[in-house]
Amino acid sequence: MSRYMSARFAGLNAYTPGEQPRDMDYVKLNTNESPFPPSPQVLAAVRGEEAERLNLYPDPECTALRQALARQYGVEKENVFVANGSDEVLNFSFLAFCDKENGVAFPDISYGFYPVFAQLYQISAKVVPLRPDFRLAPEDYSNLGCTIVFANPNAPTGLALSAAQVESMVRANPDHVVLVDEAYVDFGGESCVPLTKQYDNLLVCMTFSKSRSLAGARLGFAVGNAALIEDLEKIRYSTNPYNINRMTMAAGIAAVESDTYYKENCRTIQENRAYTEEQLARRGFSTLPSKANFIFTSCPDMDGGALYRALKQRGVLVRYWDKPALRNYVRVTIGSRPQMDAFLAAVDDARKEI
Ligand code: PMP
Repeated sequence: MSRYMSARFAGLNAYTPGEQPRDMDYVKLNTNESPFPPSPQVLAAVRGEEAERLNLYPDPECTALRQALARQYGVEKENVFVANGSDEVLNFSFLAFCDKENGVAFPDISYGFYPVFAQLYQISAKVVPLRPDFRLAPEDYSNLGCTIVFANPNAPTGLALSAAQVESMVRANPDHVVLVDEAYVDFGGESCVPLTKQYDNLLVCMTFSKSRSLAGARLGFAVGNAALIEDLEKIRYSTNPYNINRMTMAAGIAAVESDTYYKENCRTIQENRAYTEEQLARRGFSTLPSKANFIFTSCPDMDGGALYRALKQRGVLVRYWDKPALRNYVRVTIGSRPQMDAFLAAVDDARKEI
């Protein structure tokens, strides 16, 4: 037996990622990935010259990628931070902008990583409950006296605030950073990136994992005032200055240049979302209005756990949470039309057995 006792982290509730099973080929609708492959330009970029340069370190400044993103979002390179997935952007943001004394505020229910970072860095968490209808009420975030983090659209509900509603929260907290996690914004949400020019306390975080089909490459970014980006850069240089590897950097640049391809895919996801919502409504499900590439839906005759298990037996993976407020729901990623038809067929088959 080891003499090392892991006492320091005994109480840490580490983040549990969604299942990534290797045992069989599921219809995988549990971790909000894109069903579409990366664009042909991205595939060419990672198979091309960059692969031959893997003996050399990548550019620690990530200049070309930051410039490409800056062009796309109408800002300067100094307003763009890139990291190994938006999880790393969030990680560094908790280090940079949340202090132990003032703490950090985030909603309950939202992305499960926020409380983990708070606990890991011993930052006191001011957890703000959603309203009973799962709505995030901007007025609940006035005068909290600390950094605020939330996802817009929210996860796992899919509900979104307008940019004007987010702006009201940014204005109500002028002395504190407001971090808006826009991981799912490309599926019908309203981005707050344009507001970052007006408000130096607003940081918007995004990812290549969803709309840009690059979950496996690990690439996220943030847009905000240059002073905020500089703080994040300090943390990056103090922990992992080569956090973006050459293949990911090449893939990211090519992905930014493949905007038409990704926009088309996002449109398809929105169509498949409307189709799935309508099909579920016919079956008596109640689904929250989603602006994301997933839906949060409740079956009339099975709780979330029972539906999850019945679907898994039939080769379809969705996500559920064993928490009182979420127990009746499953979260279903919107995939291709054949995937959604396979999901609906599995739902019908499972309900025959009740
Ligand atoms: N924010 C939210 C709200 C998410 O759901 C996720 C993905 N699970 C992330 C951030 C992290 O995404 P990634 O690290 O793949 O960019």
